[in-house]
Amino acid sequence: MITYRCPKCGLEFSSTHGIFSPRCPACGQICESQNQTFSQEQQGNVPPYGQPQYAYGPGAEPGVFDVGPSGKSRGIAGLLGILLGYLGIHYFYMEKITAGIICIILSIATCGLWSIITLIQGIVILTMRQSDFEKKYIYTTSTFPFF
Ligand SMILES: [Zn+2]
Repeated sequence: MITYRCPKCGLEFSSTHGIFSPRCPACGQICESQNQTFSQEQQGNVPPYGQPQYAYGPGAEPGVFDVGPSGKSRGIAGLLGILLGYLGIHYFYMEKITAGIICIILSIATCGLWSIITLIQGIVILTMRQSDFEKKYIYTTSTFPFF
């Protein structure tokens, strides 16, 4: 038996799970299984049969190398910024291709001094919260997100 909740009148009722979604006994509205509906909404883009992507509960801060909802890890981005930032590798990792190319040009133009900036930037990224990192660097429409 699966519990269903009618989206129209709110009635909860049980039904055996068949091929077709059952109709609400009160108003006749076709109802999706509660479990199915909820898991699809919560997982978003995650394949429905995949493992849960996060070991941490809602509200808990993920570890530095944990991949966030965007599929990017601020730990990897930060380390790439520290080690290879002068080549714009961290921007390429964050799929900001234009910004990566700008980094290469700036490195050449400043005779390598630019690597100090990307080193600091990498440290800042490492110490950021995952949600701030994604908002600032991943989901932004800016071609050159910076600090
Ligand atoms: Zn109903």
